[in-house]
Parts: sequence; C-alpha cells; structure tokens
Amino acid sequence: GATIGMLGAGQLGRMTALAAAQLGYKTHVYAPDAADSPAAQVSAAATIAGWDDLDALERFARSVDAVTLEWENVPVATVEHLRRFATVNPGPNVLAVAQDRVAEKSFVNGLGIGTAPWRAAHSAAEVAAAVAEIGPRCVLKSTRLGYDGKGQARIDATVDPAQAWESIKTSAAIVEGFVTFACEVSVIVARGGDGAMVAYPAVENRHKDGILDVTIAPAKIAPATLAEAERVARRIAEALDLIGVLAVELFVTPDGGVLVNEMAPRPHNSGHWTMDACASSQFEQLVRAVCGLPLGSVERVADAEMTNLIGDDVLQWPALLAEPGARLHLYGKAEARPGRKMGHVTRLFPKTS
Ligand code: ATP
Ligand code: MG
Ligand code: MG
Repeated sequence: GATIGMLGAGQLGRMTALAAAQLGYKTHVYAPDAADSPAAQVSAAATIAGWDDLDALERFARSVDAVTLEWENVPVATVEHLRRFATVNPGPNVLAVAQDRVAEKSFVNGLGIGTAPWRAAHSAAEVAAAVAEIGPRCVLKSTRLGYDGKGQARIDATVDPAQAWESIKTSAAIVEGFVTFACEVSVIVARGGDGAMVAYPAVENRHKDGILDVTIAPAKIAPATLAEAERVARRIAEALDLIGVLAVELFVTPDGGVLVNEMAPRPHNSGHWTMDACASSQFEQLVRAVCGLPLGSVERVADAEMTNLIGDDVLQWPALLAEPGARLHLYGKAEARPGRKMGHVTRLFPKTS
C-alpha cells in the first residue's frame, strides 16, 4: 500500500491519517514534536526532527508516496528541500501567500476580491500613521504565525497605537480596518492536480475568546451571499493553482457582501462537520487531491452544528457520549490546558435546503 507523508502532527493530521487509512493508505508524520502527538498515535510511522534537518527530511520524503501538510507555517525552505525527493502539495507558492498576512491580502486584492482596508507596519509610528488613514477602529496583527487570535491587538480611540504595537511583540505587522460584520463564514474547497474542484457550502463561524466555538452548516445567509462566498473561494484556489484543500474565512457585511479575512491551505476547524454530514469529508478530499485520486462528493446528507471542546470542555465527554446522535471526536491529547482544542462534537439536523 501507499504511504502519505504528513508535515505536522496535530488533530488535523490525525483526522487526515484516519481518512487515509479508510482509503487504504498509511501515514508517516514528520514534526519537531511528533512523539505521542494526535497524528502520531494513529500513524504507521513518525519522525521527530526539526524543519531544518535536511537528512531527516530527505529520508522522510523518500519513504512516502506523496507529502502534504496540516500546518501552513512549515518553512518554505523545508518544502523546497522535500520537493527534490517527493511531490509536496500544497506547494511552496501557496504557503508563501498563506504564511504572510500582507502577501495574502495583496494576492486576494490582486484578484479583485475585497478585504478590510489594510496597511503594512514595521514600527509604532507606521501603526499610528495607518490608523490615521484607515480610521480609529483597527485590528493590529502580526503578519506571521498568529492563530486563535494570538498576536493581535484591537485599536480604537481609547487605545494608544504605540501600546498596541508593543503588545504584539513583532517586527512586521498589518493594520486592518475593523469590519462591522453581520456574521463570519468560511468556504472549504478541494482541488485536484487536474484542476477539478469541489466546494462545501459556506458555513457560519462563531468565536469565543478568539477561538472558534461553533460552526453552523450551512450558513443561514442569503443565497446570493452563499454563491459569492463560494465564487471567491474557488477563484482563490484556482489562482493559487492549489492541489489540496483550502479554507477561506470571510466576513459577511450588513449589505450581504463578503470580504476575505484570511485563508488556510489545509483542512480547517470549520470543516469538521463534513466528517459526519457529507459523503466525503474535508480530510478525505485532501487525501484524494494529493494522491491523484478523483475528488469525492461534497453532498450534504444533513445540516450540522459543530461545537469545539476547548480545555476543560472535554470533561463533558461522558454526557456527550450518552447524548443520542451526538458525534464525539476526541484528539488524544493528554493535558486539557486552557485554550487547547481537545475535541469536537457534531450534532445533525434534517436538511433545510
Ligand atoms: P484563526 O484561528 O482563524 O487562524 P487568527 O488568529 O489567524 O485566527 P483572524 O482570523 O485574522 O486570526 O482573526 C480572529 C478573529 O478576530 C476573526 O475570526 C474575527 O472574529 C476577528 N477579526 C479579525 N480581523 C478582524 C477585522 N479586521 N475586523 C473585525 N474583526 C476581525
Ligand atoms: Mg489564521
Ligand atoms: Mg481566522
């Protein structure tokens, strides 16, 4: 049987490995911290080595049939090196765009797709100048490596831009105008090497403390907004020449328009509902796309609501197991630290559309 190489060893890698196993593939994970990780627990092999360990990377690449990733911040140089010995998808061009918020917004705007107004900033003075241009309400974000709202600071008339700059502790940032959104949605697309593409319907995402809390599938938004969100996600995947899975996060504005917030070229927390409610899950689509198999059906057999189990939420697992129809997924993490994604639960409802 064939083996998939997975860069990164968290829950997204775990659920991809489980989908790979269902299709008869083994998984070999590679990560600096792979020991007893969520993905290593369900994989045939695990390499614990740094992203700059050229020998370990070569051995890993030579031992697998196709490499993919569950973390978009794998260094581009790592992927370039791996590519000498194996196919890696998504490729370095996609990662370069998705790793840097300035590159990402430039790319999206270059396609004629809207975002919040933004400026790059490298000092307190540049942050202040950007806020003066964009307006008093802004969000300051580190250009790189942020997730779950980390590396961000809100700015308004009561917050000193210099203080916000100090608080995010970075040398490169982006200042975004604050979007007063009606709701937040995301669209997940899968695209194969032959250019074939499928899209799941836009879903609504609600956050708590900067972390995704609940996803409602499909989003209860106007049909024209659903269609526009899907068009935007497909356009971005095509322009990136993506092979794999791409999640695009969008703001829905009060007039029903959409603005792109950010993207992730991998399975996404807002797509976990597809495991229980669709013919093929987002994880299965990734396996199919990177292994050159035909993409699966995105047919939705039910509406769904996915709730994350963050930190101590996971202690509810006995009650969730006892709840008829609740689909419980636990990630095998030993320690329920605050803010840590420990699992999720999906509840299904009759289709309304
Ligand atoms: P993720 O965990 O999704 O990767 P992240 O840390 O990369 O998150 P963003 O998605 O950029 O960060 O922002 C986190 C949340 O903060 C958004 O989902 C949204 O609720 C809010 N937010 C971010 N940017 C803006 C903005 N310009 N205007 C209004 N709200 C925003
Ligand atoms: Mg992000
Ligand atoms: Mg986000």
